[in-house]
Amino acid sequence: MIPFNKPFLTGNENHYIYQAVKSGKISGNGLFTEKCHRFFTDKFGFHKVLLTTSCTDALEMAAILADIQPGDQVIVPSFTFVSTALAFVRQGAHIVFADSYAHHPNLDVDRVEELITEKTKAIIPVHYGGVACDMDKIMALADRYHLLVIEDAAQAIDAYYKKKPLGSIGHLGCFSFHETKNIISGEGGLLAINDARFAARAEIIWEKGTNRAEFFRGEINKYGWVDVGSSFLPSEIIAAFLCAQLENIDKIQAKRKQLWHAYDERLRPLADKGYFQLTDIPPFATNNAHMYYLICHSYENRTALIDHLKNNGVLAVFHYQSLHKSDFYQNKHDGRVLENSDRYTDCLVRLPLFYELETGDIETICGLIRELYE
Ligand SMILES: *Cc1c(COP(=O)(O)O)cnc(C)c1O
Repeated sequence: MIPFNKPFLTGNENHYIYQAVKSGKISGNGLFTEKCHRFFTDKFGFHKVLLTTSCTDALEMAAILADIQPGDQVIVPSFTFVSTALAFVRQGAHIVFADSYAHHPNLDVDRVEELITEKTKAIIPVHYGGVACDMDKIMALADRYHLLVIEDAAQAIDAYYKKKPLGSIGHLGCFSFHETKNIISGEGGLLAINDARFAARAEIIWEKGTNRAEFFRGEINKYGWVDVGSSFLPSEIIAAFLCAQLENIDKIQAKRKQLWHAYDERLRPLADKGYFQLTDIPPFATNNAHMYYLICHSYENRTALIDHLKNNGVLAVFHYQSLHKSDFYQNKHDGRVLENSDRYTDCLVRLPLFYELETGDIETICGLIRELYE
């Protein structure tokens, strides 16, 4: 059986966890957390970062920092993971769902302006598969209408828009280290604070509404409760694991890209014959090889493909029920039809892509796909 995903251990995870345990301090914001923070500010130039226990948590922190109030509107693509919308719903926001492009699952930026009202507070672009949304257009809209931009960069580590790292362009950026992502810590995430206005408050929200982080740096002589917040910071055990992954980011990315291209070489010719659709990486974006997916012509066709692969020992999966049609939100949605989002819901299929996958496996998978269509 070729699984859909398999978490990759780079080698030093256990060693660093042991070090953290042995140091006698395994709660959050210790040496390994600091090491991870330094990695992100050094390698990607983020102004300030905070590790979180998930991308969902980072999005929740962003929603608090954005001061989202009941009744505020937030523009979110419908074709995304639940958390992109959920974090804002918890603050009382009304979600205005946006459609994707016909040619790519990313947010159709040219149709965002018509969704902006006096109540709109923020736009949440999701970089699907680590491929950048058109950030210049989004930031221009945000400027014109005084909106905040919070990038859901859960899948977008080490991915760029016009040479700028994703997650560093909006006011805030959120990453995930869930075991299905490129860099993992089981559950885990990161908030990038790109607008200095939010830096001090972010640290307080991170530490249960207290100014403990300032206290530990010796900047104040006692700490206490000063704001809202939660326990958003991960333990040192998680940070230690993440540290080992980050040390190997270049190696992980190189292997994933090699696998991605192995798929692409074999599947492009079949897409050219019209059997299914593949998406292109826009010229302003890079490819971080987060996922390889294809878009079938119909729901039935996709079911046939997933079944054919499964019957031959390969686990491929579909992705995302349109959020505007979810049980939770369908009655709150304004009724607009989001046809592209719905089409990806019905037709998109993700193929196995993980570090330990071999080119031979890809040969097998692509052979099965060819067999079905030819
Ligand atoms: C994985 C993912 C999330 C959630 O990340 P967690 O770390 O599991 O909370 C949010 N948004 C997108 C687009 C994702 O792919």
